Amino acid sequence: MIEEKQISRIVEQVLKELGSKTNPCSQSSRRWLGVFDTMEGALAAAEKAYEMFRNYSIEQREKIISAIRKLTLENAEVMAKMAVEETGMGNVYHKILKHQLVANKTPGTEDLSTAAWSGDRGLTLVEMAPYGVIGAITPSTNPSETVICNSIGMIAAGNAVVFNPHPHAVNVSNYAVDLVNRAIASAGGPENLVCSVYKPTLQTADVMMKHPSVKLLVATGGPGVVKALLSSGKKAIGAGAGNPPVIVDETADIKKAAKDIIDGATFDNNLPCIAEKEVFALEEIADELIHYMQQNGAYLIKGQEIDKLVKVVLTEKEEQQGEGCTDRPKRKLMINKKWVGKDAALILKEIGITVGNDIRCIICETDADHPFVMEELMMPILPIVRVKNLEDAIRLAVKAEHGNRHTAHMHSKNIDNLTKFAKAIGTTIFVKNAPSYAGIGVDSEGYTTFTIAGPTGEGLTSAKTFTRQRRCVLVDSLSIV
Ligand code: NAD
Repeated sequence: MIEEKQISRIVEQVLKELGSKTNPCSQSSRRWLGVFDTMEGALAAAEKAYEMFRNYSIEQREKIISAIRKLTLENAEVMAKMAVEETGMGNVYHKILKHQLVANKTPGTEDLSTAAWSGDRGLTLVEMAPYGVIGAITPSTNPSETVICNSIGMIAAGNAVVFNPHPHAVNVSNYAVDLVNRAIASAGGPENLVCSVYKPTLQTADVMMKHPSVKLLVATGGPGVVKALLSSGKKAIGAGAGNPPVIVDETADIKKAAKDIIDGATFDNNLPCIAEKEVFALEEIADELIHYMQQNGAYLIKGQEIDKLVKVVLTEKEEQQGEGCTDRPKRKLMINKKWVGKDAALILKEIGITVGNDIRCIICETDADHPFVMEELMMPILPIVRVKNLEDAIRLAVKAEHGNRHTAHMHSKNIDNLTKFAKAIGTTIFVKNAPSYAGIGVDSEGYTTFTIAGPTGEGLTSAKTFTRQRRCVLVDSLSIV
């Protein structure tokens, strides 16, 4: 694997060679493959591509997917650097790992299977068939990773796809769209099988969601987009927000738990929806846990430092509750997006604390209702709540997860305790005794995805998620005499 220190130099060189290509909206005359001025144009092109693609064999689909994997690996550094530059969030080295993960562990056509019944009366098959054109909305936190991961799964299933990427990550997302189309072309596939627009907006998303040629919608993002998708009246797969709690009980290997939690919570500066967002520690091991966290790059803040940090990373908004003059506006805390995905040292500097490069996470003790616990910060800030017993830990962790059905983590050697928490929280991903990223196949078994559909129940999406079932029946008429 490439060394961290080499990356910057390589990426600078590649970006220089690419020149204005990094900004498709610039004066450059270069048009990106599959990227259109209008959503209507993108949809028409994808529809045409699908009409051709539906005649392709599964072997041809797999050839295309191999080409996408190869080109993704070759461009991992460029996309990682572009994403950090464009969004101002995350960590280049971790984003490289995320692209490598997508290239290597997103399932292809091997994910599809056919069920068959054969007997005296003939043969019945249930096959996984494509939907046609899929409309997909992607986030700013894993922009190109999601475009490539969705493309592999959707193409493997025989579909075409039109993306409406996050406006704040449009360049890197469309770089990925262009990359996928280049790979498709090199493998003999149809042009514009994967499309997007140069200027995605809520209006272009609306056009996409309402368009009759779009047969399936897939959204990866926060609660707003999932709600919009589910109100569309179409078949929709919603991968929504998380706020994963971690419980550490007295039976855990505390030294390892501390390292795993900090490794997971700092991965890409806590941007992943699966990353540890708050810790519930049994009081008999809390001090030891904090001690080992500090030995693993965590900086402990206390008292007024915590209050200062709240003012920096959260903003207060007044929301009118009713129309009557007696209704007082409700004060609501919101995340200050300026600090999402930023380095811990930069955030600490804002509250007057200077630390070295070895500090990668800010930890603090809070109560269970603290906004750091209840809000999905997506910053390397980890609140730790001391709890008296496992029952309290589970109750409070379930509350902090907000019923997202997303992800939860636990460090314990007690099977009964692990089972109790897993049953109570009922999340799509439950990671035991490992960093959060084990949940998406990093240093663990199983495939990866960047679209985890908790709200609509498909779970960790893959090619088969993007298919519809089709039954094909052959009756042996000679046997029905
Ligand atoms: P976001 O919700 O701000 O944006 C996601 C996408 O939805 C963007 O393309 C945005 O333009 C679009 N969008 C937002 N509101 C919309 C609406 N009303 N109609 C149409 N489109 C709309 O999310 P983000 O900040 O880019 O990403 C972070 C969030 O996404 C976090 O909440 C995180 O937990 C979640 N996420 C979930 C998964 C998952 O697999 N479940 C993966 C990544 C991120």
